[in-house]
Amino acid sequence: MKIYCILLDTMPFCSEVQEILKITGGTLARQVSGCFTNESLIQMFTGKLTSDLEPNGIGYRLTWNRFGRYQISIWSWMKEFIQFYLRDKGFNFVSRNHKEIVSTVLGFGNYPEFYTDTSVDRLDMADPSLKQLLCNNNEGKKFEQEEFDYIDKIQQPSDKNIFHLISYTHYHSAVHSDIHRQKSKQLAAGNRVLELLKHWDFSEPDALFWIFSDHGSWFNPRVDAYPHPQHFYSWVIVKDNSKNSINLVSKVIDIKDFTSYMKLKFDFIPLPEIFASKKRIYLTEDGRMAIDEEHMTTAIACCFEKWKKDFPQQMNYVIYHKPDNCFIQRKAIFDENSFITKVETLSNVIDDSLVNALIQKFDWISK
Ligand SMILES: [Zn+2]
Repeated sequence: MKIYCILLDTMPFCSEVQEILKITGGTLARQVSGCFTNESLIQMFTGKLTSDLEPNGIGYRLTWNRFGRYQISIWSWMKEFIQFYLRDKGFNFVSRNHKEIVSTVLGFGNYPEFYTDTSVDRLDMADPSLKQLLCNNNEGKKFEQEEFDYIDKIQQPSDKNIFHLISYTHYHSAVHSDIHRQKSKQLAAGNRVLELLKHWDFSEPDALFWIFSDHGSWFNPRVDAYPHPQHFYSWVIVKDNSKNSINLVSKVIDIKDFTSYMKLKFDFIPLPEIFASKKRIYLTEDGRMAIDEEHMTTAIACCFEKWKKDFPQQMNYVIYHKPDNCFIQRKAIFDENSFITKVETLSNVIDDSLVNALIQKFDWISK
């Protein structure tokens, strides 16, 4: 069978997500993720926070500083990656278009059986030129055609088990390139991404599609030491045409749940009961480069209430920021379509359960 994880890097929860839902015929959920790609992918593929894996977690540049830029990371916990579990189930792993992160940061470049591939010119960059990604010119058409050809190639019937990670970095480039005119570039990103997704055959037999965003736009609002839901509350669409098909047990998942769903699918290991609970507390973390290049400095715990049509209308969350050594609490309100309408900082922290969850989980929180 095939597993296709399709990463729409940085794509916020926006109307285009509803379009993708229609194109795929899958199931939509919101997802508590990280605030930047490396950490979100590590969370997703290990089922753990980076603070569970490295002392004080993995900051943006830990890998460059420790192993050297463009050198492949050697993690003592490498085998935590679900790719190795799936390898033992007979799956090969192939990634496309995020060569630097997948090969060097995650460390898969040390494993020749895991193959990385890209159609963009600068093979080591997650951010190929905007002309390739966002413009309808020759460069853009060439990029798009190569991606169409690649989709056609990998969707051919095969008796091999292959786990694909395909990255479309259009939104990342749109946000990164021009913070002042990001709306028009984001519109272009949305259009180009939809064109690519329309080329996929989401009815492919014996295939699981896991389409997701790793985090939101970091300029809207600007991400700082106290991130907003726009940064860490992303989304996922799942369509499973294979046997033992996956059904998400909640409309809010944690990006780390991916590993549990794989173990349920392939080894019938039951999901933790808390996954289906509306009282679940979700944990994530962040580290801004301006604050600490190498470690996480922000920890977040959130829970949800006022569920309507299976989606919550309110998120309560507590954020701890280490340099300030303080906790703050906010609440975010969502409309019935799960779009954010308001974020409010409370004058006091009132949710002790969220504070306690943070203290229990993160040993770098000052007691
Ligand atoms: Zn990203």
